[in-house]
Amino acid sequence: MTHELKTGGDRGYLRIATEEAFATQEQLDAILRLVKEGRADKGTVSLWGFYGTSPSERTTFIRERLLDVGALRLQAMDEAGIDKAVLALTSPGTQSLFDPEEAKRIARNANDFLKDRCEAHPDRFYGMAAIAPIDPEWSAQELRRAKEELGFHGVQVNSHTHGHYLDEEQFDPILRACADLDLPLYIHPQGPPDSMIGDMVGAGLDGAIFGFAVETSYHAMRLLTTGVFDRYPNLQLMLGHGCEGLPYMLYRLDYMHKAGIRSQRYPRLKPLQHDLSHYMRNNVIATNSGLPFGPAIKLMIEVMGEDRVMYAMDYPYQYVPDEVRWMDDLEIDPVQKKKFFQTNAERWFKL
Ligand code: CA
Repeated sequence: MTHELKTGGDRGYLRIATEEAFATQEQLDAILRLVKEGRADKGTVSLWGFYGTSPSERTTFIRERLLDVGALRLQAMDEAGIDKAVLALTSPGTQSLFDPEEAKRIARNANDFLKDRCEAHPDRFYGMAAIAPIDPEWSAQELRRAKEELGFHGVQVNSHTHGHYLDEEQFDPILRACADLDLPLYIHPQGPPDSMIGDMVGAGLDGAIFGFAVETSYHAMRLLTTGVFDRYPNLQLMLGHGCEGLPYMLYRLDYMHKAGIRSQRYPRLKPLQHDLSHYMRNNVIATNSGLPFGPAIKLMIEVMGEDRVMYAMDYPYQYVPDEVRWMDDLEIDPVQKKKFFQTNAERWFKL
């Protein structure tokens, strides 16, 4: 242990954790019912079949902590030196559900619950909205309510909705609402859809170890390559887990994207106003949730710019206070470190 972890800015910055999860009992009951009835997507069966029912110490801790947006969470934050947390309804949100009315009810109730919790602890908790992408028009209205009535700071979409992606025309109301309301769009992983998952479960690789990043980076690449950020130049896309690996690959993504456009190999790939690295430096924001890994954070700062990389813990899935110490000790410029832990989150979420 190199130093004590305290809240209050004793190291020159506050620590704001930006991808922190909660659940509602209503949400978990609905997802577990689908799993039990054999109606859930394979990725949901793998993810919530495990987290929802495993008796292990880790999953029991996670279930208890997801449902608490009060004393237990605040104590965990205090013990890890986390000043503030930006909270979102845990993956897959409502996106494993098939009944639009149920999905909307659960999203709306979760938003009301989160607003109440944020009002109870206004200097500790901040909200991101839950929506029900299965009904894009309703989701756009809920985003307006989230911004104007609930005082939320962004929206979390848990990647695909039954194998459908936000670049598809049906979801345009959601993108438009984010752009109009100036709400950042955080795309968080869930299990890959049945159309992609293949033998990932058999291989033990569908979840956070690997499959999450494959599927979520695919989602982001679909948005980046179809002109979403030409249509909505102010839209800000947030990606966790080291930007799901994209910054490491950026040269190749750019090179092959341009080659694909030049050759007219794919009807879907049309010329854009900018190359992909421009959008990565103007429309994408990364967090290091679950990835307290110095080389990755330094690379993201170099590739995306020091204003676009934020700290996240991924509580309660990865509650390891020592990781906060490693990030405190990260060898980057002190100005960059304050941006990483505090001021980038304040800026992009408007805290
Ligand atoms: Ca997470």
